[in-house]
Amino acid sequence: MTIRNLQEVAAIPKSEPPLVSVKDVGKTYFTGQSAVHAVASASLDVRRGEFVSLLGPSGCGKSTLLMMIAGLEKPTAGSIDLLGSPVLAPRRDIGIIFQDATLLPWKSAMDNVLFPIRILKLPVHKYRQRAQELLDMVGLTGFEHKKPGELSGGMRQRVAICRSLIHDPDILLMDEPFSALDAITRDQMNVALSEILETYRKTVIFVTHSIREAAFLSDRVVVMGGRPSGIMLDMPMPFARPRRFEVEETVEFTQVCRELRLTIEAAHGHASSNHAAPKGAAVIE
Ligand code: ADP
Repeated sequence: MTIRNLQEVAAIPKSEPPLVSVKDVGKTYFTGQSAVHAVASASLDVRRGEFVSLLGPSGCGKSTLLMMIAGLEKPTAGSIDLLGSPVLAPRRDIGIIFQDATLLPWKSAMDNVLFPIRILKLPVHKYRQRAQELLDMVGLTGFEHKKPGELSGGMRQRVAICRSLIHDPDILLMDEPFSALDAITRDQMNVALSEILETYRKTVIFVTHSIREAAFLSDRVVVMGGRPSGIMLDMPMPFARPRRFEVEETVEFTQVCRELRLTIEAAHGHASSNHAAPKGAAVIE
């Protein structure tokens, strides 16, 4: 099993270009007469093997930034490079996981996991063993033939994680993947995700509005906010891996969460001075 830790990530040569490079990126949505500045001047490098969370309140542009990295939204300013080439359209070298598992209800767990392989027109029989390994890894042995309707929310999200990993992408983009789950299942999913990434090492960008979730999972936490919304803080998480629940009981964890909370509060206080903003830190003109 590959154990990832900060030292290991730090050991990756500095000369290696970042896997994801976001340079002065902005996004303004134009709707009718008004413009919404969702993201302004965001710059961020993510190195191979890092787990980086984008943290902030609703409406501060986290999903917009993630969707631009995925090539699903176009920046209105700046540029994004992935694996050394500019992101101009949706890419196959990434896996994406959304808040809802978005599984095909008529297909089994196994067939849902294999679905990207069919879309990519790769030989499905060559990926069955990997699909089974992934399902075993997330504790779904014996559930391969169940349909999504026969699985719990946590199980469905586990299937979605397997589906995102089946074609072995370098980069995983996760948009609040556990926020629809109950608190206990969410904690379990955080530990499960840590374990999965100890085995299948990936570069991850993870959107969340949970401070504890971000601190627990990440190598770095990037706080978004301000007016217009940009990057307020980029903070390394000093906890060794592998991480288990116990890390949350340490004084260091509490201190890190406090610093993140204070940064968010400062950004949000700034944002709330404009009553025109409909939510979070976005600006409406
Ligand atoms: P977050 O993920 O932090 O909750 P979003 O990136 O979803 O924030 O949204 C940032 C801002 O951009 C919000 O004010 C939101 O209403 C606005 N926004 C997001 N998508 C669109 C869109 N397609 N059209 C217009 N405004 C949008």
